[in-house]
Amino acid sequence: MAAAVPPVALVTGASRGIGRAIAQKLAARGARVAVHYHANAAAAQETLRSLAGTGHALFRADVAEPAACAGLVEAVVKNFGRLDVLVNNAGIYEEHDIKAVSYAEWQTVWRRTLDTNLTGPANLAYLAVQQMRQQGGGRLVNITSRAAFRGELTASAYAASKAGLNIFGQSLAKALAADNIYVYAIAPGWVETDMATATLTGPNRAEVMAQHPLGRVATPEEIADAAAWMAFDAPAPMTGAIVDINGASYLRT
Ligand code: NAP
Repeated sequence: MAAAVPPVALVTGASRGIGRAIAQKLAARGARVAVHYHANAAAAQETLRSLAGTGHALFRADVAEPAACAGLVEAVVKNFGRLDVLVNNAGIYEEHDIKAVSYAEWQTVWRRTLDTNLTGPANLAYLAVQQMRQQGGGRLVNITSRAAFRGELTASAYAASKAGLNIFGQSLAKALAADNIYVYAIAPGWVETDMATATLTGPNRAEVMAQHPLGRVATPEEIADAAAWMAFDAPAPMTGAIVDINGASYLRT
């Protein structure tokens, strides 16, 4: 009997934080992982070294650049011969208080945030789906945010990008179910990563912690547990679902 081919997962933004934890969980579950990063090569190497199993590889790309997205998926498929899971995790958070920034700054942050957090994942999904359809199926996991539902006082582009990613994923869930391609999203609240350090250690810490009945925010590993489950185990009829992991700090009804 031929041995089953290990699944291949591309995890964007796997050099640090949530992406690194997801890469580690997927590798521990037997996937070969395409560890993607943007600027932080040393951290990405560290992620690669930390993965269980063999056959993983590093890939650099700016997801805000459409041509770089095409190059990334092409390189992953060339290296592994297939692509079963895309985790759209890479993202940026930039403050741009409407009452404080110039119009030029406002435009710059909006463009950079939307390009990185929404158009990039959409382009990667397009490219991955072409390969997955040839293979007969696949899974997309988008990392969005609680911000998509509650808004962000001084980061409206971030909140809008994540709301867009939610409905983008749900649109693909409808479009691709018949192709055995399932699309899930995780909407985290605060998670202990570089992105959250300034807030979790700054003057707003007490206010943030007061939102959390658990008395703490989530760890990257807790988000990664859910992502790995979606990548391998989540039932097909769950396609289109957005799962909140925010410690009951913000509950949608
Ligand atoms: P993080 O620690 O700041 O890491 C961000 C990752 O994204 C890094 O791997 C970075 O690569 C990559 N990245 C940034 N810009 C990129 C670009 N233009 N092209 C390609 N890669 C790029 O962030 P995190 O906290 O782990 O966040 C991961 C995801 O969870 C993000 O989508 C974020 O919005 C979401 N999220 C986070 C929180 C939180 O509290 N931390 C809450 C809700 C949602 P380099 O290292 O190479 O720069």
